[in-house]
Formats: sequence, C-alpha cells, structure tokens
Amino acid sequence: MSDALVIGGGPAGLMAADVLSAAGHSVVVADAMPTMGRKFLMAGKSGLNLTKAEPLPVFKQAYGAAQEVLSPMISAFGPNDVSAWAEALGQTVFTGSTARVFPTVMKASPLLRAWLAHLSQHGVRFETHWRWTGWDGDDATFDTPDGPITIAAKVTVLALGGASWSRLGSNGQWAGQLPDQVAPFKPVNMGFEVSWSDHMTAHLGAAVKGCKLTAGERVSRGEFVVSSKGLEGGGIYSVSAAMRDGAPLVIDLLPDMSVEEIATKLAAIKGKQSVSNKLRKALKLDSVKRALLNEFGRNSDLSLHEKIKGLTIPQLSPRPIDEAISTAGGVRFDALTDDLMLKSREGVYCVGEMLDWAAPTGGYLINGCLATGRWAGLAAAHRLQTS
Ligand SMILES: Cc1cc2nc3c(=O)[nH]c(=O)nc-3n(C[C@H](O)[C@H](O)[C@H](O)COP(=O)(O)OP(=O)(O)OC[C@H]3O[C@@H](n4cnc5c(N)ncnc54)[C@H](O)[C@@H]3O)c2cc1C
Repeated sequence: MSDALVIGGGPAGLMAADVLSAAGHSVVVADAMPTMGRKFLMAGKSGLNLTKAEPLPVFKQAYGAAQEVLSPMISAFGPNDVSAWAEALGQTVFTGSTARVFPTVMKASPLLRAWLAHLSQHGVRFETHWRWTGWDGDDATFDTPDGPITIAAKVTVLALGGASWSRLGSNGQWAGQLPDQVAPFKPVNMGFEVSWSDHMTAHLGAAVKGCKLTAGERVSRGEFVVSSKGLEGGGIYSVSAAMRDGAPLVIDLLPDMSVEEIATKLAAIKGKQSVSNKLRKALKLDSVKRALLNEFGRNSDLSLHEKIKGLTIPQLSPRPIDEAISTAGGVRFDALTDDLMLKSREGVYCVGEMLDWAAPTGGYLINGCLATGRWAGLAAAHRLQTS
C-alpha cells in the first residue's frame, strides 16, 4: 500500500503528486496513456499559456459561476505563484502584450521533463498504461498490460481530465464511475461549423485581425481564423460559451471607427466603383474581412456601414466536443467537500478539468488545474498526517 495514489498524470494530478511527495508521503501516479501529460504537451504547441498576469479579482472573474468556490484555491496559487513555480523548475517565463504568461521557450516539453524529474527525485513512482476502471471496496482497480490489478492507498486523487481530445487520454469515460455526481459535459473554447460559399475558398486558413466579437455578454478583441470547417481561434473561443448557449455572433469589423466615420469615408469615394473597391480604398478593409461581409451580410437589409459595425451571424453549431480546447461539466461541487474530497468516498479527491468549472483560454485553464491539484493535494497530505 502506498500513502497516495494519483490517477491521471496531467498538470492537476502532477501538482497533487508534487505537494503530497514534498510532504514526505509515498506517491504513485497512474495514467492510462503511454506517457504523462499528453494534453499539457499539446497545449505547448500553441506556446503554453500558463496563466494571465492580472490582478486577482479580475483573474478570478474568468471562472464565472465557479468563481466563488475556486476563489480560495486561486488565491493560494494564482498567476504569480504559477510563474514562480515554472521558474523554480528552470523555465523562465515572459508576459505577452495581452498579459498572457508563457515559458520563454514557448513549449511544454522542457517544463514537463523538469517536473517529472523533480517528482522522481522525490520518490514519486509513475505507472503508465494503467486505465482506472473503478473500485473494489476501498481499492482502485485498473486494467494494465499485465491484466487487472487492485491498488490500495490511504488517499486517492482523481485527476482524470475533461472530455475532449480523447486521443490524448482525456475521454471522460470516468464519469460512469461517479454516478449522480457528474454534470453533463459541454464543449468550451471551441470552433463553430460554417458551410462556406464557393467565394470563401480563397480565404480558408486566413487570420482575421482587429475585430470586436460579441456574443451575449461576452466580448473579445482576439484574432480568429476562417478555416475549412468554419470559424475558430482565440477570439471565437472567448465568446464560444455564449454562442453555444444560443447567442448570435456579432462582428464589428472596424471597432476603432464609428458608424458616422465609416459612412463619411465611404461617401467620399466618388465615381462608379464596386462595393469591394470602395471598402478597400475608403476603409482599407482587407480581403478576408470583405469576404466575410459578403458571406454573412449580403442578405441583410442593413446599410453597408451598419453591417461593418455589426455583422450578425445567426446561431452556428459548435464543432464536435472532442475538438474543444476544454469542457464544462464534470464532478459537481455539491458532491465535494471544501477540500475537494468526494462526500460519497472518504479520502478520495477530485481535481483539474474533471471538476464542473469552465474558463476561457488565456491561461485560466492550466492555472485552475494547478490550483485545484495543489489544494486537494495539501488537504490529502494533511489527512495523512492527522489520521
Ligand atoms: C490544443 C489545446 C491547447 C491548449 N492550450 C492551453 C493553454 O495554452 N493554456 C491553458 O491554460 N490551457 C490550455 N489547454 C487546456 C489544458 O491543456 C487542460 O485544461 C489541462 O491539460 C487539463 O489538465 P488536467 O490535469 O485536469 O487533465 P488532463 O491534462 O486532461 O490529464 C488527464 C489525464 O488523465 C488520464 N486519464 C483519463 N482517464 C483515465 C483513466 N480511466 N485511467 C487512467 N488515466 C486516465 C489521461 O490519460 C490524462 O493524462 C489546451 C488544450 C488543448 C487541447
């Protein structure tokens, strides 16, 4: 029997293992995949946005409905702590112009390697190809290459991830082991389907910059991409939860110009010109923005300048959940104690994206995973010390 069993070797589980081993306990981390931290590595492909350098009250607002319950965890391990943690593992970080914090190398592999080495030095044992299948009494059961096994531990931390990018291990199948305690999974930070007209073919893959996107209460000035499947990228992800829940997407193609200014500039173009030429000459609207205006605005009764300021796109379908950057839903907070321990199972904690919270991209996801992993790891360590 080991002191602590951590199931799931993503950032949340590794952080729980970190604090448990630092407190002197024997820890086993088990993961179904051949290696640890596969989704973390994938996050590194886009630079690994670890957190966001914002004042804590602003930072916490990103967690929406879960803000209150996560507040003490984020206070205990917020943006400054995340940066300090990465630096302690030998990875310098920098803050970009939008306050997003990245490792200087803009990838996850050196950080993950250093972290796994640090954990090994503290005696953490890693088991791969171990798929957790449930419980046999108080013991956790796994399918392994050597057949089914049962593991007894004094405390267990479940860190099984959300329900997207299943090829990286996070398939949400664990939900079947926690009946009545899991809110249904929903995609978050995802793209939307658009069946493009032929004239859009030339623009597929183009980045759309300098727009303001609004859906319901959400507003974003981030870039997005016109892809062969539809609309995706950071700007869309930021407003995606409201779009998923039915709000139309409204694009302001020239957010730094008023309607009046646009109308005046358009009126100043004399002579017979195509609309596209007018837009290019008077407003310097680039080709992908002109194409979007045509695609989504051609059947609208609004004037041209009104459409530029408020190009309204009716409800679009989200791309499949498996493609989403993250998922909402998961273990409900009312099934957990303040320490993130399952009320139905003493000594078993849940952390990371498998909990029922969501946040936009911007480093909030990894920070939330690290903070909850640390919170439950410390509570589990305390339990081991006092039992
Ligand atoms: C393309 C992409 C880019 C991203 N970029 C960013 C970013 O820049 N910044 C940011 O904050 N977030 C980003 N994210 C999100 C972030 O990676 C996740 O929120 C984070 O990895 C979740 O951590 P976790 O430890 O909770 O779960 P995961 O990292 O999903 O780890 C869960 C682990 O549990 C294992 N597991 C699952 N079921 C079982 C089982 N039955 N038995 C044993 N093991 C099991 C899985 O194999 C997996 O290793 C990105 C995600 C994607 C897909």
